Amino acid sequence: MPFEQLGLRPELLRAVAAEGYTRPTPVQVRTVPAVLEGRDVLAGAQTGTGKTAAFTLPILQLLSRHGNRVRGPRALVLAPTRELAAQVSESVRTYGRNLRLSSTAVFGGVGIGPQIEKLRRGVDILVATPGRLLDHAGRGTVDLSRVEILVLDEADRMLDMGFIHDIRRIMKLLPQKRQNMLFSATYSEEIKRLADGILHNPEVIEVAQRNSAAETVTHVVHHVVRTRKRELLTHLIRERDLRQVLVFTRTKRGADALTRQLLQDGVSATAIHGNKTQSARTRALSDFKKGAVRTLVATDVASRGLDIDSLPHVVNYDMPDVAQDYVHRIGRTGRAGASGVALSLVSADERDLLTNIQRLLNRKLPVEEVSGFKHDHAEVSPQSGRRQGRGERSADFRSERSAKSRDNGSGGSWKPGKPGARGASGARGAKGAKGSGYSLSRTRRG
Ligand code: AMP
Repeated sequence: MPFEQLGLRPELLRAVAAEGYTRPTPVQVRTVPAVLEGRDVLAGAQTGTGKTAAFTLPILQLLSRHGNRVRGPRALVLAPTRELAAQVSESVRTYGRNLRLSSTAVFGGVGIGPQIEKLRRGVDILVATPGRLLDHAGRGTVDLSRVEILVLDEADRMLDMGFIHDIRRIMKLLPQKRQNMLFSATYSEEIKRLADGILHNPEVIEVAQRNSAAETVTHVVHHVVRTRKRELLTHLIRERDLRQVLVFTRTKRGADALTRQLLQDGVSATAIHGNKTQSARTRALSDFKKGAVRTLVATDVASRGLDIDSLPHVVNYDMPDVAQDYVHRIGRTGRAGASGVALSLVSADERDLLTNIQRLLNRKLPVEEVSGFKHDHAEVSPQSGRRQGRGERSADFRSERSAKSRDNGSGGSWKPGKPGARGASGARGAKGAKGSGYSLSRTRRG
């Protein structure tokens, strides 16, 4: 289906064409018309599906119908992280550039003064993280009484991060009568309760199975002795001339240590994690996006909401403790049909984590041996399961995820109660690594 059939006005069609989008993604095909009809929406869609445009485009259209500016925002988008809030806000500006609507983002970690000034001048669309929004509400610097449309973006992440009470407090500040959308990659009991309390007779949209991002990505597993992981990573980056590599470590300290070691190896690298200031994070991301640094080392929490177009390589330097995080990590590559490669450097003590991931994806990931890095099966004893070797995490090496957020087990499959609502994409066969050079065809299937 071409964009023209979605019922969007020419100003918006020109904006998506300028972005190079030729066809709407499945979540856009389903969401845009429903929102334009005034329906509430409950959508199971994860990062990379084009969900941001799916809610932003119809919001822009609905708000542009009656242009008289009121003081408070008419649309409110709640997002779990500052990075996601900044990116959604950027998308609002991009898609709305031919319309006369204003928008801004408010999130913590940066000065509140400029945000107050922007809010004072009036915005149509406000993108916010819950905590900072409540801060503004408490100061009386935002008036939420005129919100007509509410979006909860990455609602499962918001619950994971403990924002449920903030969300409920925000709901009380909004008018009763409004249009609501809830986007979530997973559908837990908690999400269901939240959706039941907020949405009225929603259009239930599921465009892809929870693991579908995995299908546009080529997965490669390299078994390696833990103490040689860094050496292998440097080798792969150099030998295969990998550029724009997003590397995941389990901890903030691990991210810093790896960044230092890569720099010593002569590979340009920068780290992004929760201990960095917002400006350091923004700078790291922008250097990485423009190619000034080759490697961005990130923790799971810090990586949420990172939007990097056509990111070709994601490396699991430490395998994630929670299998669902593998899906979130690789969601950074292979976006909206672009192809990508997810490399996993798996040490013997991480085999069980790999097994969990394979179980979740319902497929075995292809293994490739790198010459000179033959792995050592004797690295770990079967009884102990894990061995604390040199360079391994120690007890105080708490993962950023467990330190910052609670895992409430919301990684379940996306199963809203409505029959027949499930999308068409079933599990497809495993996509093997084609050759060893990780060569990519950078096609966008839209
Ligand atoms: P999201 O799921 O909103 O994070 O979007 C993922 C990526 O897909 C973003 O980089 C968008 O620029 C891109 N995108 C969104 N819609 C389309 C489309 N119709 N065709 C191609 N790319 C798109």
